[in-house]
Amino acid sequence: MNQAVQAAAPAQKRKPKETGVPDNKKFLHPALVKNYGDWKYHDRPRPGVLHHVAHGGDEVWSVRAGTQRQMDVHTIRKLCDIADNFAEGRVRFTIRSNIEFIVSDAAKVDPLIAELEKSGFPVGGTGNSVSMIAHTQGWLHCDIPGTDASGVVKALMDELYDEFKREEMPNRVHLSTSCCEINCGGQADIAIIVQHTKPPVINHDLVANVCERPTVVARCPVAAIRPAMVNGKPSLEIDETKCMCCGACYPPCPPMQINDPENSKLAIWVGGKNSNARGKPTFMKMVASGLPNNAPRWPEVAEVVKNIIAVYKADARPWERLADWIDRIGWPRFFEKTGLPFTKYLIDDWRGSRANLNASTHIRF
Ligand code: SF4
Ligand code: SF4
Repeated sequence: MNQAVQAAAPAQKRKPKETGVPDNKKFLHPALVKNYGDWKYHDRPRPGVLHHVAHGGDEVWSVRAGTQRQMDVHTIRKLCDIADNFAEGRVRFTIRSNIEFIVSDAAKVDPLIAELEKSGFPVGGTGNSVSMIAHTQGWLHCDIPGTDASGVVKALMDELYDEFKREEMPNRVHLSTSCCEINCGGQADIAIIVQHTKPPVINHDLVANVCERPTVVARCPVAAIRPAMVNGKPSLEIDETKCMCCGACYPPCPPMQINDPENSKLAIWVGGKNSNARGKPTFMKMVASGLPNNAPRWPEVAEVVKNIIAVYKADARPWERLADWIDRIGWPRFFEKTGLPFTKYLIDDWRGSRANLNASTHIRF
């Protein structure tokens, strides 16, 4: 194109390549769209119900119920029927997999709650309750779980049913479960996380056919994997004195099997939070390890979690999150009060990381 034509051509607008965040307005209840960002106040008339009042006088009630998160189509249809017949056809899911039904008429709240409870969906999870457990994908969707996060959630929430429906904790209690040590369940007041305790067992017959060896070597955060020839075939070997049993090599190379019915355990971590309300965000610390990965009800895990919740409920001051409570009483008192055994493997607060992370090629001090 010559310069004259170039000058005459209208400037072309660059088309965005990314789609961005979808517009959620078309899915919102009309009262929420109308009063978006214009709320005067909100309160909670009872556990599980949020009541918002707009400056213009409009009112909406959000009724929150617990779900099992990974739902079959029949359950989703049932929830949709409840939304159509007992609410106003609009729902939303919270980040902890609770479902909220939004209505603009106070008279609809009680029949909606009655129908949800009758159908097996507990109403609660607001304010100072134990909310639904945020959990990772588990056996259904991810390729590396050492346990089923959603199964642990179902078993545990069955036991914490009453604490979900009441607002009797010192502050809100967020729980999470993660089915491998990558921990995509994130920080929580109490987290249940898989803990592999033995290095992967390598099936040397398969490595050359299945794995890209340089990728696997690069994947190890502590440089414990080396290429090796085993029985005349290209394979890999692990320096077991370096391996920290994280499981990161398993996804790119399934012949490096780390899941093990005996040695893949569960650990409990406490004191994490994402919010900076009243105190800065905090990382969780491990307080119990080596619990059996005992499907389908994980009773040993449930016992430890229920014990921590009960002691926190009895001992914390109003509005103390679990981390604030431990900060006030100190870790020695935490272990004393909960009766959990303290071992040298617990509560790495990273002040010692100069020594225990210096085995890596990636991290140098
Ligand atoms: S915690 Fe691990 S196994 Fe579970 S979904 Fe996340 S990455 Fe996958
Ligand atoms: S389990 Fe983790 S530390 Fe051990 S070899 Fe595999 S990637 Fe490395």
